Amino acid sequence: MWSGYGGGRMSQDKTISGHCLCGAVRFVYSGEPNWTVYCHCESCRRATSSPVTTWISVPRDLLRFVQGAPRYFESSAGARRGFCERCGSPMTYEHERFPGEVHLYAVSLADPSQVAPSRHVFADEQLDWFEVHDHLPRFGATSRTTPLRHGPKGE
Ligand SMILES: [Zn+2]
Ligand SMILES: [Zn+2]
Repeated sequence: MWSGYGGGRMSQDKTISGHCLCGAVRFVYSGEPNWTVYCHCESCRRATSSPVTTWISVPRDLLRFVQGAPRYFESSAGARRGFCERCGSPMTYEHERFPGEVHLYAVSLADPSQVAPSRHVFADEQLDWFEVHDHLPRFGATSRTTPLRHGPKGE
């Protein structure tokens, strides 16, 4: 089953904080995220009702909920998505395949400029009417494949 958060020592690295829309659920983590990516998959899109989602992956041991806690919804087998039960803000994504990580929304940080995306994943599912004008690698599915291209379609 899912283990708790903050099992390890919090390092003395910089502490990053974040919260939901209403402020009832607040978290902190220390150190640098494992990665920051744009995800264009339909599942993330529906979970946020937005055309793209920007994720950061944080080691589970380094994440702590300092106020409130998410409620969870099992969005597919082995995956659960956490949300604030008061305001409904999406908060987390976890999958049994990577038990040591919790994915957080980059824009839930108190200061989202503290992270920057390095790639796009699931670009095969990207909406036709949505584009991001950067030249980061775009992967059709996960980034374990070869990038489809760098930058927007047709460039
Ligand atoms: Zn809330
Ligand atoms: Zn996704």
